[in-house]
Amino acid sequence: MTVNLYSDTQTRPTAAMRRAIAEAPVGDEQRGEDPSVNALCERVAALLGQEAALFLPSGTMCNEIALAVHCRPGDEVLADVTSHLIHFEAGAPGALAGVLIGTLPGRRGIFTAADVDAAGRAESRHAPRQRLVSIENTANLGGGTVWPLATVRAVADAARRRGLSVHMDGARLMNAVVASGTAAAEYGRACDSVWIDLTKGLGCPVGAVLAGGRDFIEEAWRLKHRWGGAMRQAGILAAAGLHALDHHVDRLADDHANARRLGEGLAQLPGVAVDLDSIATNMVYLDVSGTGIDAADIVARLKEQDVVMGAFSAGSIRAVTHLDVDRAGIERAIAAFAAILGR
Ligand SMILES: *Cc1c(COP(=O)(O)O)cnc(C)c1O
Repeated sequence: MTVNLYSDTQTRPTAAMRRAIAEAPVGDEQRGEDPSVNALCERVAALLGQEAALFLPSGTMCNEIALAVHCRPGDEVLADVTSHLIHFEAGAPGALAGVLIGTLPGRRGIFTAADVDAAGRAESRHAPRQRLVSIENTANLGGGTVWPLATVRAVADAARRRGLSVHMDGARLMNAVVASGTAAAEYGRACDSVWIDLTKGLGCPVGAVLAGGRDFIEEAWRLKHRWGGAMRQAGILAAAGLHALDHHVDRLADDHANARRLGEGLAQLPGVAVDLDSIATNMVYLDVSGTGIDAADIVARLKEQDVVMGAFSAGSIRAVTHLDVDRAGIERAIAAFAAILGR
């Protein structure tokens, strides 16, 4: 069997999740009449310490609807320079919300209140109006790093002193919760809007849930409809989410342990550098420039041994652990890597 460490988006629905999908009570989601979707939204709103929530087809749509509800065209959003919404959402902040992104120089994707203050603009008719700070937790390109709750709160305080709202891209928030022991609601309550992806570590086939205040979610509903994200019997998707919240959260700790083992195993290999301190959750970034072999080449040779990783640049590879890779798979991945490097 393939050991697929390309991303935690590679998970397939388990047999039990497929049963939950098959048995889901359903209704017309866009009329607010799908009982499974309604149950999922109520559950996630409570989980994230917010008044209400909205089921959406993807995490990208959560980010983009949130930007458009918080901001007006021409406004500025402050976000870490590595943010997903800058690099991987096809230019949607500009194309859909009409906002520009002011980049903050975080450390491993995590910035501070001082960074927000330093980026603050004086009120001027020449300057874009600053409206929102976006926090990515865990920070993907940061290495899957976890925001300490105190840092989130300090950033939120700094934002509000400047009249800015706070959004959290929580695509992998449950990884942060399991790794830190901080309750999801504590993170959520520090923010004005926050979402979780169901298709990453939680292992669902489709969907994400955006949470916020009642008025925010009401406005988000309008954009969901306008942008074609309103669905019909979406309960078959929401049922997977409910199942995942019951069965796939605590086990994220296994993914984190597997990522650490993978990082430690690969760090032993000649020419491979791994910043073990950066492995906070389920991601391992490898610097392979010391091997003398191109990252894409290594990835192709891993593939021949049925191990999949992603080449990020000529010298860097990313591996992500998830519920379809067990400890034996991790050991196989390390052995395959060692074989390529002649060990
Ligand atoms: C995956 C991801 C998204 C987008 O979610 P999709 O469900 O793939 O649209 C946004 N932010 C981060 C940090 C992500 O990892």
